[in-house]
Amino acid sequence: MNNRFMGSMLAVVAVAAGLIFAAPSHADAKVVTDADATSAITKTQALRGTAEADGGAATGSANLTPATKRWQSTTITYKIDSGSSYYKSVWQSAVKSWNKSGVVQLVPASGKADITLADKNSTMKNATVGITYSSYYNDKSMNNLKVMANAKSYVFKNVANRYHYSKTEKTNVAEHELGHALGLEHNVGKGSVMYYATRDQSVSKPDVNGLEASYR
Ligand SMILES: [Zn+2]
Repeated sequence: MNNRFMGSMLAVVAVAAGLIFAAPSHADAKVVTDADATSAITKTQALRGTAEADGGAATGSANLTPATKRWQSTTITYKIDSGSSYYKSVWQSAVKSWNKSGVVQLVPASGKADITLADKNSTMKNATVGITYSSYYNDKSMNNLKVMANAKSYVFKNVANRYHYSKTEKTNVAEHELGHALGLEHNVGKGSVMYYATRDQSVSKPDVNGLEASYR
């Protein structure tokens, strides 16, 4: 898939001691699950729940979105890297949804951001509608979670448009990817924005529960 991007990320990380970078979990079974994807699904599939899995296996209870990582502080900086006012507003809405949880506070970065939010066209052949790449420190943990060093989330606009995602549905995908950027993994239940093939669902109680457990 996006080998050039992965290569450049690896190069950047290689000079920073103590950092681990891993490829998306579906790319190579040997690497640590460290980036994840949302697959695009049609409305009919969303209702029937027949979309194919594309991402890490969901674990645990539907009432508690699981996590493997977190940021050190509950105040986390972000920047929106997009030339599109449409996608800027999609990401702003996603940021607002997670801030409403009251657990973390995403604030605009004045300099280097913890989390970068962007849109681009996918070059993948599958129907992945969003993806998040992240890195974490291999010598730090909090609440048994890895401590994140940086994250970058994308919504793939060509895939979202191909499957006729509305702006609200694109915002749900943005919330899902931002959830990964906050350290959350997939939830088994469709009532979570972290369901692997979310389309209709926004941030909900299981997601806030998961965030509270991570950042307690
Ligand atoms: Zn995902």
